[in-house]
Amino acid sequence: MPAPIKTKEELYKDLIKHLDYLPQEDLDFLGGVYNFAVSAHANQTRKTGEAYICHPLRTALELTTLKMDMPTIAAGLLHDTIEDTDTDEEMLKKQFGPEIAFLVKGVSKVGGLKYKNVSEEDKKVENFRNMILAMAQDIRVVIIKFADRLDNMRTLWVLPKDKQLRIAKETLDIYASIAYRLGIGVVGAQLEDLAFPYVFPKEYRLVQQLIGRKYKEKEDFLIKTAPELKKYLEANGVKVKEIQFRAKHLFSVWRKLRKEDMDINRVYDLVALRVILDTTEDCYTALGLIHHLWRPLPMRFKDYIALPKPNGYQSIHTTVIADEGQIIEVQIRTEAMHRAAEYGIAAHWFYGENKGKKAYKKGGKIDFKALSKIAWVSQLQKWQQSFTDSSQFLESLKIDFFSDRIFALTPKGDVIDMPEGATPVDFAYCIHNDVGNSCMGARVNGNMVALDSTLKSGDVVEIITKKGKKPSSSWVNFVKMTTVKKKIQEEIRKGENK
Ligand code: MN
Repeated sequence: MPAPIKTKEELYKDLIKHLDYLPQEDLDFLGGVYNFAVSAHANQTRKTGEAYICHPLRTALELTTLKMDMPTIAAGLLHDTIEDTDTDEEMLKKQFGPEIAFLVKGVSKVGGLKYKNVSEEDKKVENFRNMILAMAQDIRVVIIKFADRLDNMRTLWVLPKDKQLRIAKETLDIYASIAYRLGIGVVGAQLEDLAFPYVFPKEYRLVQQLIGRKYKEKEDFLIKTAPELKKYLEANGVKVKEIQFRAKHLFSVWRKLRKEDMDINRVYDLVALRVILDTTEDCYTALGLIHHLWRPLPMRFKDYIALPKPNGYQSIHTTVIADEGQIIEVQIRTEAMHRAAEYGIAAHWFYGENKGKKAYKKGGKIDFKALSKIAWVSQLQKWQQSFTDSSQFLESLKIDFFSDRIFALTPKGDVIDMPEGATPVDFAYCIHNDVGNSCMGARVNGNMVALDSTLKSGDVVEIITKKGKKPSSSWVNFVKMTTVKKKIQEEIRKGENK
């Protein structure tokens, strides 16, 4: 159901309030950006009936929750101007400089990629994710896309059914997944829960029914228990930064239910206590104290601090029988582990800007060496290694680990991953040998092109074939992929031997 709608004036006020981590000169600059966006979108309305500018305002507002830098907030306000108004990249460059123009252009490029009819083989879905990153080129572009998507998902009810499903699936399979990959758990969880009712309506209702009263009961118990636990830990010499209780988000409850034979009583972390402390040593001391206070359930203890999850996640998890026989999961972690689990790559901006902590920043660039211990980094590193051996991992905000690959699309929407410089003939052989052999022409983004032309990421390539056609020997002079060259030579040799 639609939430109460705020006017653009109210939203702008909210935005300024949430930007208190930026210096005044940035706020002044953003005032100019806002005015530009307002006039660019003047007379446009959203399908919800509100002024169009409300959407970029909410997108920018979303970016403040991740404490993003000024150019990112500016690009959030401007993110639909290239796509939906008369504004172009040159105008933005003149007005606001190359960095902001580059970010807006990136969001438009990524927004043009539509995830549909992609066969749900893991490899193909993964290719699509990689293409999004390759085209974004800058991590901030992807983060703006997350903010844009969060707002679009909240107003998805306004679109026709078929569009709802396509966008919700894209959100779940592509954007939520990338958010987790970048370690931004807070965004991944929200995207999943927003998409859940559209993609799996029956399952969504089932989960809601199953957890119904249970949530409330657990929550009431934890509201009472949290301050008692804090008192107990502090009385025993452990300084507590914070105790939170966080409800597991619905989509992840469902994932867990499938593992637990749909038995809700076996999902012990429906609402978990999260104990946030200063140091790793404190975490282990607290663990001992908690096990002394409440009896732990056997086989439920996990030390992800000593043995982080494959994605780098760190925390101690234990399940205990607390007072009144309530079974609860307790998660114990330091603040740094907590931040890494929730904000991932976005945590740099957060701490760089907010508290003046420069630990991760070196000369304005993120120091990824200093970060190598942090959660999402190890997984991102593995991800990158499957593409290139480049040791220059994310030296800046640039996503350059795909710089030697291109990702082109079939008319049906499947993504083909090829080396830079690949031609329509390479593309044809990637689809199938027969398509390659009988290839006689190619259309790229609707236009006929020469077979030796070079493809770019995001190109939609349609191969025109003719039955009985044979490959031309000239192709070996321009195809990029060695495997394709061999296939062509082989096919020609076969023809000669006949
Ligand atoms: Mn948008």
